[in-house]
Amino acid sequence: MKLQARPKTHLTEAFAREPNSLKDNVVSMVSRSINEFPELSNRRITIGLTRAYDGSAELGSSVIRLNPKNLRFFTVGHELTHLLQGDGIPFGEKACDIYTIARSSLFLDAPPGYLRISRNVERSWNDYSNSVQEFCRRAIEYRKSHRKYIMWLEANLVSLGKRQARKSSL
Ligand SMILES: [Zn+2]
Repeated sequence: MKLQARPKTHLTEAFAREPNSLKDNVVSMVSRSINEFPELSNRRITIGLTRAYDGSAELGSSVIRLNPKNLRFFTVGHELTHLLQGDGIPFGEKACDIYTIARSSLFLDAPPGYLRISRNVERSWNDYSNSVQEFCRRAIEYRKSHRKYIMWLEANLVSLGKRQARKSSL
């Protein structure tokens, strides 16, 4: 049996006052997501609520805020990735998307918010998500020897949609 340290989460006061029906889903999605982040296993993540955005993170802290409405694993993963930026993961929203997608297939339940993808890829996300993940993983490799890894990735993602669209219109 593999024993795993349970990552600890904590709710902000405002979130703690919300009904259980709302809290349980958010907490269970965050707990599942944290399992994909061994780097966070020793940190106590505070979960708060936001209604204005899908989610947000306080850089340099361990606080993420999530919108419980239509919450996606992608959003949870994206906010958790923010907590690691500057510590092995480069800063920036696009970098955050790339490292979230590359990390785990759990986070492929919605297209990225900042990374430029074609309309086809966005519209048929389920058909493309695995290819996008593969490109994100390659981009992280590419970054080891090239500075413009995001440009490289986005060029590939845009042509990915075009290639497939051409094929399917035959
Ligand atoms: Zn972000």
